[in-house]
Amino acid sequence: AGSASTSSIRQVKLDRESELRIEVGNDSPLRLRLLSGNAEIFGTELPPEIWLTLPPRLKIAVFTWYGATLEMDGATETDYTADETPMIGYVNVHAILEARRSRARASSSDDSGSTQGPRVIVVGPTDSGKSTLSRMLLSWAAKQGWKPTFVDLDIGQGSITIPGCIAATPIELPIDPVEGIPLEMPLVYFYGHTTPSNNVDLYKVLVKELAQVLERQFTGNAESRAAGMVINTMGWIEGVGYELLLHAIDTLNANVVLVLGQEKLWSMLKDVLKNKPNVDVVKLQKSGGVVSRNAKFRQKARSYRIREYFYGPANDLSPHSNIANFSDLFIYRIGGGPQAPRSALPIGAEPAADPTRLVPVNINRDLLHLVLAVSFAKEPEEIMSSNVAGFVYITDIDIQRKKITYLAPSAGELPGKYLIVGTLTWIET
Ligand code: ATP
Repeated sequence: AGSASTSSIRQVKLDRESELRIEVGNDSPLRLRLLSGNAEIFGTELPPEIWLTLPPRLKIAVFTWYGATLEMDGATETDYTADETPMIGYVNVHAILEARRSRARASSSDDSGSTQGPRVIVVGPTDSGKSTLSRMLLSWAAKQGWKPTFVDLDIGQGSITIPGCIAATPIELPIDPVEGIPLEMPLVYFYGHTTPSNNVDLYKVLVKELAQVLERQFTGNAESRAAGMVINTMGWIEGVGYELLLHAIDTLNANVVLVLGQEKLWSMLKDVLKNKPNVDVVKLQKSGGVVSRNAKFRQKARSYRIREYFYGPANDLSPHSNIANFSDLFIYRIGGGPQAPRSALPIGAEPAADPTRLVPVNINRDLLHLVLAVSFAKEPEEIMSSNVAGFVYITDIDIQRKKITYLAPSAGELPGKYLIVGTLTWIET
């Protein structure tokens, strides 16, 4: 630690089963390479001798099973070596999943249960390392030639697309530690908020839609069915958060529940799932390397994710600013909006806002700085059940001329004419 002022090249020797934990500084990237031995970053092996450029703020661990020598060039926020890690436990889980995948592939029966590979759901409190464990399990599986499906239900800090969405994508190669998951047509549903309490019913509806589409895809694809899925979840595990976890386990038919870093959650889940003999609830140790992130950091991370969508991870994309007439775009909100407070209703009446009602939105300056999704829906009635093609960012509203200016990944017509708005905002910096 405390190497903030050094920027010369230095070597780090790692003993077997240990890891180098790095927090890249806020302002400059860090170069890193493997000099000898073998090492991996969250399940993806480092190529020998090639310099990797780790972007600012990245927090990672370089782990070695048998020993390695690394070289670093640049300053870090912190870097230190740890020889106590939960990696053996994690790789043991991977081995069990591998066996189940092979069994599913070898099964010739028509029984859909036996040709289904493991459906793993990773749960735990915030900052317990859920995304990281999901990533490792996916990368280890991909390294062995499987194409498992990654399902990300974390609307706050998702890894597949921008915040406010739930999404799924097949993982065909170990995940690149710098570039992340390639965005080749993921299946994305737009929830539009970064916390599920905004509209719990909508969240459930979208999880169900996603599950149904995946189920259909698996029916026609024995290989991906056998590879199974890894589902990452939100860190909200109490009250409604807990209810949503149970809903996800049930809706996606998860059969392996990995509980990170909380005994109480493990025991609660074990108890409610005990009458489902085909569901295993497994407790796993949280890594001491997981970095806690406060609300401000999370907000910033969300903002970077949106920036990355439009400008690319290495500023390598050029989004296009488009101008449309108000009459060209059809914008909808899902849910009745803020419900009438009980105090405003007659005694005994329940607030009647339908959480999944489609509400047409008039274009006005309230839309400024919001991120909207472009639905694949052909008719307004299809919006709720449709996945989205991408996103636009509203940069100007000219009420007088009835013109709306928005940023899109490219020029030209949008892939759909129905847009969905929630509460997802972004201030371009
Ligand atoms: P959330 O609260 O958003 O659900 P999470 O439980 O998914 O969080 P991760 O995103 O996996 O947690 O981890 C939090 C941060 O810690 C990430 O930036 C991740 O890269 C980092 N991290 C995880 N494990 C390690 C490690 N062993 N060494 C260093 N950094 C790590």
